[in-house]
Amino acid sequence: MVSNPYLPKLAKIESIKDEAPETKTFKIKILDEKIRDSFNFSPGQFIELTVFGYGEAPFSITSSPMVHENFSITVRKMGNVTKGLFRLREGDFVGVRGPFGRGWPLEKMKENDVLVIAGGIGLAPLKPLIEYIILHRKMYNNVKLFYGAKTPKDIIYKDMFDEWRKYIDVELTVDFAEKDWSGHSGPVTVLFKNFQPSSDNIYSVQCGPPIMMHFVTRQLSSIGLPPEKIYFSLERNMKCGMGFCGKCMTGGRYVCKEGPVFNYSEVKNFLETPV
Ligand SMILES: Cc1cc2nc3c(=O)[nH]c(=O)nc-3n(C[C@H](O)[C@H](O)[C@H](O)COP(=O)(O)OP(=O)(O)OC[C@H]3O[C@@H](n4cnc5c(N)ncnc54)[C@H](O)[C@@H]3O)c2cc1C
Repeated sequence: MVSNPYLPKLAKIESIKDEAPETKTFKIKILDEKIRDSFNFSPGQFIELTVFGYGEAPFSITSSPMVHENFSITVRKMGNVTKGLFRLREGDFVGVRGPFGRGWPLEKMKENDVLVIAGGIGLAPLKPLIEYIILHRKMYNNVKLFYGAKTPKDIIYKDMFDEWRKYIDVELTVDFAEKDWSGHSGPVTVLFKNFQPSSDNIYSVQCGPPIMMHFVTRQLSSIGLPPEKIYFSLERNMKCGMGFCGKCMTGGRYVCKEGPVFNYSEVKNFLETPV
């Protein structure tokens, strides 16, 4: 029997963790063992989450692709669905469809330097990529994370950075520094101050607010990265997640199916803040 792709699979919230103001990470376990075992995703893919009685919305999968028992999403409270989700407790049920979309270009990036740039909650779809790279560390050359948040309180995954620093370079900046902040201050582009790619073999991947991606892309272009090596994850209003309904269609492309990861040459003409 062919299963209905619109029907969410029943899942349970295993744990809820505060990450930052109005931002929580939910660890979710699909109840059916067979479906759970076949839930394989690539870093950068997303799920459609149903909060019963509120609706459905897309969220990036943020846990390691090597873990199959459960998966995590990091959510900022925004509107109807996320408010409903924030009312739930550990042990409550949700619905899951997916995984959907095209993730980060893991194969193309092999044997290259990788520059990962994230702003705020934009680190969520990049976390599984970082964890994938760490697990396959020898396949990638120099790997750097540039991460910016509004204030130190808005930094997500604070407890991960020490571990990541054992394998990759991590530089943090905040727009508004507080007394005990010893890192950089300013937008994420300040981290480019002394940065020059060591070779042409470099890919960049980024996710953050459109204004951040605008300035970061400009910076990357100015240091010589070609558009084909500048990757983004784009967020668009979407419904089905499978390239049927057309809700996310922008510039003739289904963001849910052909993306959400695109390179700059693919999206140049339909970014809201052209670079
Ligand atoms: C591929 C993908 C991955 C995503 N990953 C994450 C993630 O990891 N974490 C996360 O927190 N979010 C993520 N999002 C964003 C999340 O899906 C949205 O914020 C979603 O709208 C939240 O649903 P909601 O019902 O709570 O909010 P909504 O009620 O949809 O409101 C969300 C925001 O959009 C505004 N809005 C709603 N409808 C419209 C409209 N028609 N026109 C203009 N503005 C409107 C609202 O005012 C509000 O500011 C992702 C989105 C995509 C497409």
